[in-house]
Order: sequence, then structure tokens, then C-alpha cells
Amino acid sequence: MAETKNQNNNADMPDWSAYRGVMVFIEQRGGQAKKVGWQLLGQGRKLADKLEVELIALVIGYGVEHLAEEAIYYGADRVILADAKELKDYRTRPYSRVALKVIEEVKPEIVLFGATGTGRDLAGAIATHLPTGLTADCTQLDVEPHPSRLLLASRPAFSEKMMATILCKQYRPQMATARAGVFEALPRDISRKGEIVQVENVLKEEEIAARVLEFIEANNKLNIEDAEIIVEGGWGVGGPEGFKPLQELADALGGMVGASRAAVDAGWISHDHQVGQTGHTVRPKLYFAIGISGAVQHTVGMQNSDVIVAINSDPNAPIFKFAHYGIVGDLFKIVPAITQAVKNKRG
Ligand code: FAD
Repeated sequence: MAETKNQNNNADMPDWSAYRGVMVFIEQRGGQAKKVGWQLLGQGRKLADKLEVELIALVIGYGVEHLAEEAIYYGADRVILADAKELKDYRTRPYSRVALKVIEEVKPEIVLFGATGTGRDLAGAIATHLPTGLTADCTQLDVEPHPSRLLLASRPAFSEKMMATILCKQYRPQMATARAGVFEALPRDISRKGEIVQVENVLKEEEIAARVLEFIEANNKLNIEDAEIIVEGGWGVGGPEGFKPLQELADALGGMVGASRAAVDAGWISHDHQVGQTGHTVRPKLYFAIGISGAVQHTVGMQNSDVIVAINSDPNAPIFKFAHYGIVGDLFKIVPAITQAVKNKRG
């Protein structure tokens, strides 16, 4: 990749002044956007404002014009929309080709993707083609202001024991994927106005080797990251049977059951329930931490929940520092009492 005259203070950096703006890929399936796209627009807005540039959303699919409007409501200044039959379902080649064309024309300095299966695949394909650097699974994203304008992409490293901040000094755009639930979406504001720019699809159907024949949903596939209420159990529930009263509370509230790693490692519940550094990052409206001590590797995954209720027999458990409401006592007495109270209230 050609390097031009350096106009930055950082002597080891090429001049990337042609690259401006923060771009966010809005992932969708069947015309429904994944929440992580809106969350990344929320964080992207902060980065773009700090760099004094526009926030651009990239929407790819078929019949997805409504998502371009939504992207503006969630903070984008401009939306690049590639809407074509060939782009209906995600396939690496047609999506990466159209995204590459957009990136080469628009020249954003930062491009962000959700760390989902699709986001990881697409970001990897694009980074390899450009070529540029890609920091995967970020949990913090910030920027250095002008003149360096560097993306500070931070993620757990060294067996998750420390945080590393990774810079991409030599190439543009700087790219990162981030987990769902880490960042907060802006409130949806339908008064926001922005520009929608349509771009052509690049590949014709006969040029695409892969065909999507059918989607088969995994049985009982959990999507705990999207749950608005999570009833989470830890080592304190004492065994697989101990999750039953938690499931009853979750059912009464219309929520989902989550678990700490201690409970998952013990084989009491499957890993897709796990919240924390090596599990899911969640930010539900209501989060119950039941029989969970509050280790840092757990709290990084749930501390942004709107309301946290902790139930623990140890009044000194660290989880109480994160809780908006704390109940000290035996979970096996408290949880059924709450479930009964919810049922009574609902009649
Ligand atoms: P404990 O720490 O044993 O706490 C159990 C709690 O239950 C205690 O506070 C106790 O007072 C309470 N209790 C017991 N009986 C009752 C009762 N009858 N009523 C009420 N309260 C009761 N952990 C995660 O959760 N998620 C992760 O993603 C994760 N990733 C990790 C990654 C790494 C690299 C490492 C090193 C660790 C990770 N951990 C993770 C593990 C983490 O450090 C803790 O060990 C774990 O979170 C502890 O789980 P716990 O709170 O359920 O168990």
C-alpha cells in the first residue's frame, strides 16, 4: 500500500488525510437488524464527534431501505445502502465485494462490525483484501484526537488476564469488531435527518459460487444478549436442580436464565447461558445476580445492566457493590417468594 508524505506529528505514520469518517456495518437477517449495529452507532457517534467527522452506516441486504432510515434515527449522518436480490442472505463474497467498493470510495478512517459470526467473517475478508489491521472482540473503543486520529481498540489479552490496547498505525481504515452488549445504543430519534446513498451491487448471481438453500434454526438457541430480563445463577445455587427456582422466576417475569462460569464449568447449565469475560456481555433492563459472588470476570459482562438485583447470603459479597438493590439471605427462600409475589401481582 502506497505511503504518502507525512503530515502528522507521529513520524512513523504515513499521511492518511484522505481517510475521514467512522463507518459502522449494520448487520441484518431477513430485514431485521441485530442490536449490535445500533449499539456500535452509539459508540461510533462518540468517536466521530471526537474526530469531528461524519458517522456513516453501511446497510447491505435486500428490501432493507427501512434499516437505512433506522440507522439515521440511531445516530448516523449518512447511510450507504446496497440493496439487491443477490445480497438477500449473507454470503462472504458478494458482501465483502460491495463493502470493499464502498470503503475504497468513501475512505472511512475507522470501520466497526459486531463480533457476531457474520461480522467476524466479513471484517476478516475485508481486512485481508485491503489490506489493513483488524482488532477482534473489542470491549472498549476510543480515539486519539487529531493529529494521530488513532483508534484505541482494547480487548482482553493473555488468557483474558489483562487488557491490551491495539493500534493500527500503518494502514487505513482501522478496523475492529466489538461484542454485542458492550456499547449502548443512542435513544431512537425519529426527528434525526440524514442522507441515504444507494450503491450498486458488484457481483451477479452467476458469479457467486455459494448458494443459501435454507436456514435451520438451532434447537432452543438462546439469545441471552437480547433478553430484557435475566435471572442469573452462580455457584450458590448448589447444582443443576438449584436453577429450577430461577427458571420459575424467569418464566414469571418473561426473562431468561443466565449463569456464572462457576455454574457452567460445573456442568450444571450450558455455556450459552454464561455471562462474563468468557461468556456473553449483556445489558438487560433487569438483571438478578443470585448466588454469585461478583468476581471481576463476571461483572464485566453485566455491570451495564439498567437495574441489578443481587441476592446473596454473604453481606460482604462484592456483587453488592454493583447492585442497585441487594437482598442478604438464602436464595432458596427469597427467589420463590419473589416469584410468588410476581404471580400474585399478575393475577
Ligand atoms: P462463587 O465465587 O463461589 O460465589 C458463590 C456465591 O454464592 C457466594 O458469594 C456465596 O455467598 C453465595 N451463596 C452460596 N449459597 C447461597 C445461598 N443459599 N443463597 C444465597 N447466596 C449463596 N466467571 C464468570 O461468571 N463469567 C466469565 O465469563 C468468567 N470468565 C473468566 C475468565 C478467566 C480468564 C478467569 C480466570 C475467570 C473467569 N471467571 C468467569 C470466573 C470468575 O473469576 C469466578 O470464579 C466466577 O465468576 C465465580 O462464580 P460464582 O460467583 O458463581 O461463584
